[in-house]
Amino acid sequence: MSRARLDRRAFLAMAAASAALPGASRAAPTNPEVVVIGAGAAGIAAARRLIADGRSVLVIEAADRIGGRAYTESETFGFPYDQGAAWLQGPEGLPLVEAARAAGFTLVDHDDAGEAFFVGGRRATDAEWAQYGLANDRIEAALYGAPDVSAASRLPDNLPMSATAQSWMGPMDFGVDFADLSLGDVNAYGSYAYNYLIREGLGALVAGLGAGLPILTGVAARRVDWSGPGVRVETDRGAISAEACIVTVSTGVLAAGGLRFSPDLPVEQAEAIHDVPMGLLLKIALQFDGERFGLKENDFLTYAAPEEVPARAAYFLTWPTGSDLAVGFAGGAFGWELSRAGEAEAVDFALGEFAGMVGSSARRRFVKGSMSGWAENPLTLGAYSAARPGRHAARGAMGRPLAGRVFFAGEALSARYPALVSGAWLSGRETAGTVVAALGGPRACGSCDARAMTRESLLEALK
Ligand SMILES: Cc1cc2nc3c(=O)[nH]c(=O)nc-3n(C[C@H](O)[C@H](O)[C@H](O)COP(=O)(O)OP(=O)(O)OC[C@H]3O[C@@H](n4cnc5c(N)ncnc54)[C@H](O)[C@@H]3O)c2cc1C
Repeated sequence: MSRARLDRRAFLAMAAASAALPGASRAAPTNPEVVVIGAGAAGIAAARRLIADGRSVLVIEAADRIGGRAYTESETFGFPYDQGAAWLQGPEGLPLVEAARAAGFTLVDHDDAGEAFFVGGRRATDAEWAQYGLANDRIEAALYGAPDVSAASRLPDNLPMSATAQSWMGPMDFGVDFADLSLGDVNAYGSYAYNYLIREGLGALVAGLGAGLPILTGVAARRVDWSGPGVRVETDRGAISAEACIVTVSTGVLAAGGLRFSPDLPVEQAEAIHDVPMGLLLKIALQFDGERFGLKENDFLTYAAPEEVPARAAYFLTWPTGSDLAVGFAGGAFGWELSRAGEAEAVDFALGEFAGMVGSSARRRFVKGSMSGWAENPLTLGAYSAARPGRHAARGAMGRPLAGRVFFAGEALSARYPALVSGAWLSGRETAGTVVAALGGPRACGSCDARAMTRESLLEALK
């Protein structure tokens, strides 16, 4: 057994343990200098940076696990499956990539991924491939570099395969249909130095990086009171005072009033949050008995959709990292509709579309299906943020610190990588840096409290 394998196992074991009981000591849990609300990628990155800079922190997480929308679980299929984020994408030097390599995770390069394309239940002809390629090229050319209007308003007329190309680019990538897609968002993205699928799961990586941090799971923040000096965070288990607070919950949670502020957020900031609502990408995973139907590992699987938009379509990623799954994606208005209809209906739809391409044997070789539940989850209320057309700038406005002591972080606040785990991570780290500066700069770690932390000792902070 290689050293890397051993390391990875230890890392994954730590990740599992951390959901139940925050472990090793790092910083004083009682009267922390900073409270972080939410233990997703942004919250974990923020806590790590604060601790590295010698500042004490307590992270409060409403769910009974950490990682947020990066969530790998093995119960459904018997092997790691990402219910949320799966692709690790981001800029050169991304710490998450370095951490994944160091821990021995299996990174599968997904740049230049292959694609299978069907039209009317058969493989596409060369001419149909050419039409599809042209639709992608012409739409991309129309969108990139355009001002912050809706993607729909820039679409070329009378373009065959337009609905098919739009489906991947809008609902299945940004979580919204073209009519709701901000070209400010589209054009803000930085380039990717990495594009990896991870066999052990991206969620496992993020949760592993939270292992040993002072995180209280199962504790929901209800109100951030910034009326007095410092900050008082009221939770369902008591209140905690700190010098500063970092809020990392989704814009869906903020817009729904899942976390309140006293005094209220400035009107402009509250409006900005509503201008960056949550889009939805629904993942509908179909497990088969090992039959591959002539489809390749890690390929995309697409079919020509009817020309009306938004298309009622689900496209797939086949056998990611060697698994027996065809992972279906539906997004935008159709994704919300399918999610409301429930798992049985969504799985039935996806299986029908899959069988429509590969044949009815798909139904015989089908084992089980699963639909991700981010739309209804009150801790997310959608998959990831998507600015309204013309309102991309609201991403900056909604993240303004309050009185130099309440700060915001998370995917929605990332300037170059919104909606991504990498954006959330970088935003958390950067915001923590701002907080450290506001607190007077880094401190030598010798001054950190190194007492062992138990769940009980962390709960003591909530008085
Ligand atoms: C289906 C799906 C597919 C995706 N695919 C990809 C992908 O392939 N690649 C990629 O990079 N990104 C992908 N994403 C997006 C990515 O998962 C997110 O951008 C990222 O994980 C967000 O991290 P965050 O820390 O900003 O927020 P979150 O992960 O949402 O963290 C916020 C945390 O706050 C907690 N919380 C909420 N309310 C409270 C409260 N009141 N008190 C305390 N805690 C609270 C939540 O439980 C959560 O853990 C996908 C997302 C989904 C849903």
